[in-house]
Formats: sequence, C-alpha cells, structure tokens
Amino acid sequence: MSHPVSSGPDDSCPDCGAATGAAVGRAAMWTDRGIVVVEDIPTRLCEACGEQSWAADVAARVEQLLAGSCQAPAAAEALIPVFSFRPDSDRPPPDSTPPAFADEDEACVSSPDDPTAAGLCKYCGAATQPQVVRTVLSGERWWIAVEGIPARVCPACGERFYDEQTTWQLATWTASGPPADAAQPQIPCRIVSFATAE
Ligand SMILES: [Zn+2]
Ligand SMILES: [Zn+2]
Repeated sequence: MSHPVSSGPDDSCPDCGAATGAAVGRAAMWTDRGIVVVEDIPTRLCEACGEQSWAADVAARVEQLLAGSCQAPAAAEALIPVFSFRPDSDRPPPDSTPPAFADEDEACVSSPDDPTAAGLCKYCGAATQPQVVRTVLSGERWWIAVEGIPARVCPACGERFYDEQTTWQLATWTASGPPADAAQPQIPCRIVSFATAE
C-alpha cells in the first residue's frame, strides 16, 4: 500500500507543489484477519489538486496499524459486505466525469499521454502486470469490500492502475453503492483511531 508522503518543512503538495491545508484522513487494508480501517489520520490536503499526503512518521505509523504490528484499541467492530466486481453493461457517456473518488490509493487512471497507457508504472517506470485485485471502498460513514477487480499492478512499487471503465464503475459504487444482488458473505472489519495508537 503506497501513499504519497509530504516532503519539506513547507508542507507543499508532493504532486503539484501547491499549498496544503490540514485535514483528517482514513485508510483501509484487506488482510488475512479481515479488514482494518484507520481513522483520524492527520493529513495534508492539497488546495489545488486534491492530493492527500501524510508526513513520513504518520505514514509509517499508519502502515504499522494496518499490518497489526502496532496496536490500538478498536473504536468499533463491524461486519461489512463483500461484493464481486462486475462492469455495468452500459458504458458511461463519453463526456461524463467520474464522481469524486474516496479511496485516494485507487484513484490512478491511465490517459493516452500517460506512460501507464504503454503498460508502464507512472511512479517508477516498471512494466505492470495484469492482475485481479480486491479493495475497500468508503463512503461518508460506511465501507464495502470489492473483489475480482481487473487491474494492472506494478511489481516494483505495488501501485495499481485501473482502466477508465473500471475507475468509473468503482467511483459509481462508492458514490451510490453497488447493486444489492451483488452482495456476498460479510467480512469482519476492525476500526481503530490513529489518535489512540500507542
Ligand atoms: Zn497538489
Ligand atoms: Zn511502480
């Protein structure tokens, strides 16, 4: 799981260099023990491009919490539904803008002038491989787990890239929920607060 880390004492955006403001972020990971969600993460939000970044020590602590190598008391335990990804038969209208994507890590879309269109990782340049992946999507106050998503994955840095149709579909599910008949059995989800981590 990769997330941009802000660099420099001025808290400028690692993507575009614009000024950032303080915000509160969330992260989730699908582990063998179920899904772990970390909330209340001190986050820098870029005022220009919307990129979210964490300071290096924050990013390291979030990774420990997600992996379970550092403990925090559970703020809540829940069962969340697992959905099998399937594209809509109707493609989005060509000029439609995908709804805002809640899951920052999954927001990479390839465009024709992008190195990802040639199958190369946008971040490190390695050749990406087609792979079926799973992810956790969040709405305002809810989470859903989605499996069976077609992606290209960078073997070097782990970054995932979705094509336009898949990105649009996931963003639509994030905004309005997946079709009810696509729900599978539920998976345990443990929610912890960054603020209570030891
Ligand atoms: Zn920016
Ligand atoms: Zn890469």
